[in-house]
Amino acid sequence: MKNDPVFEIIKQEETRQSEGLELIPSENYVSAEVLKAMGSVLTNKYSEGYPGKRYYGGNENIDQIETLAIERAKELFHADHANVQPHSGANANEAVYFAWCQPGDTILAMALPAGGHLTHGSPVTRSAKIYNFVGYGVTEDGDIDYDELERLAREHQPKLILVGYSAFMKIPDFDRVAKIAAEVSKAAGYEILLMADMAHVAGLIAGGVHPNPLEHGFQVMTSTTHKTLRGPRGGLIVSMGTVGNPLKKCERKLENIPTLIDRAVFPGTQGGPLEHVIAAKAVAFGEDLQPEFQDYARQIVENAQALAAELKRLGFALQGGGTENHLILVNVKDSFGIDGKFFEYALDKVGLTLNANALPNDKGAAFRPSGVRLGTPAMTTRGLGVPEMMKVADWMKRVLDICVAAGDEDGLGSHEAELGAIRSEVRNLALSFPIPGIPANN
Ligand SMILES: *Cc1c(COP(=O)(O)O)cnc(C)c1O
Repeated sequence: MKNDPVFEIIKQEETRQSEGLELIPSENYVSAEVLKAMGSVLTNKYSEGYPGKRYYGGNENIDQIETLAIERAKELFHADHANVQPHSGANANEAVYFAWCQPGDTILAMALPAGGHLTHGSPVTRSAKIYNFVGYGVTEDGDIDYDELERLAREHQPKLILVGYSAFMKIPDFDRVAKIAAEVSKAAGYEILLMADMAHVAGLIAGGVHPNPLEHGFQVMTSTTHKTLRGPRGGLIVSMGTVGNPLKKCERKLENIPTLIDRAVFPGTQGGPLEHVIAAKAVAFGEDLQPEFQDYARQIVENAQALAAELKRLGFALQGGGTENHLILVNVKDSFGIDGKFFEYALDKVGLTLNANALPNDKGAAFRPSGVRLGTPAMTTRGLGVPEMMKVADWMKRVLDICVAAGDEDGLGSHEAELGAIRSEVRNLALSFPIPGIPANN
């Protein structure tokens, strides 16, 4: 249809992205090449099955593309096997549970309030109705409570132990968890699957600034492809073990994990793969394998640590005292007496986008958590460095002072001039760092 308003709205979104700064740690900007692959005719094709083993004809090109994506993912994470078909991070997790667990089996994972993810057993999810999730927490200083993890593992003898999170700022001790699993496995008399959900930090692993769980005794790693990996929205599962025929049944043993996963993704939990998205994953993985991506990963962490230090200096209380990755969790309630939702709302007005987030043992209401979560992957993609992080921290403090003076959302009305001034400073800086996928003068 000519002049479909959809395209006008997309233009408006391009403007919003260009004029603001993205502090949401789970977002990023893809390259023009990734966008091009995603918008290709591959979306026209049905290709249920796997390369060389499809249920439809005409897949000779699709097979080459999916094979490239698989080979690049294996190289990135030093894995025996990769499944690039999960439509999202949530689907990837669902497939791994389905591959290894029976209904009623116990899964030990980080509790949501401690920094875990909804898909790790939140009662509102489908998996929580199928499996028995037990949650471990974090200590005062923001690290995994390994003693609690060990105690719960001995007590519940889970079939699967999961290390993964969306709001956790330390580098996990994968070896320690692997050791606990080995001991409990011996006592229980069955194998325990070690799964890492690295949806947030996969790009840091690929970039060599974070340990790879597959090199520390874990058999499976799930991820999203759109966060630090800087690819299209989607999921990924990489694993260690023997790769068998995905169309044939196999025993539930750790060595068969790659085949069990293939079967669990299709036909277990999904239908036809999104091959246009898989092509975009292949392009992104190709970019992630370049030496420049290592510089990018290093800069993400450097920016996050600089931003954290400056926020701290300005009086913000940080969960865990700082960060070892790209994530920062700020306790605005403790620091300044205002809640995360209010701060999020006010920052939106100046073009700084982030999300309100609960803190471990948060006393605030579910919709009024005490903190905000932010991170540096998107800003780093645009080329912002440490000097710009100082500006971001300064803007955040100025907005915070306005919030304190205003008292609540309605009170912001009498501070529009001050907010507007910050808004134009943010816009000016943002516009001098173009977004890779959006051509200038567009
Ligand atoms: C983002 C995230 C997911 C979910 O990814 P979706 O693609 O949104 O389904 C799963 N696990 C963790 C740890 C995440 O951070």
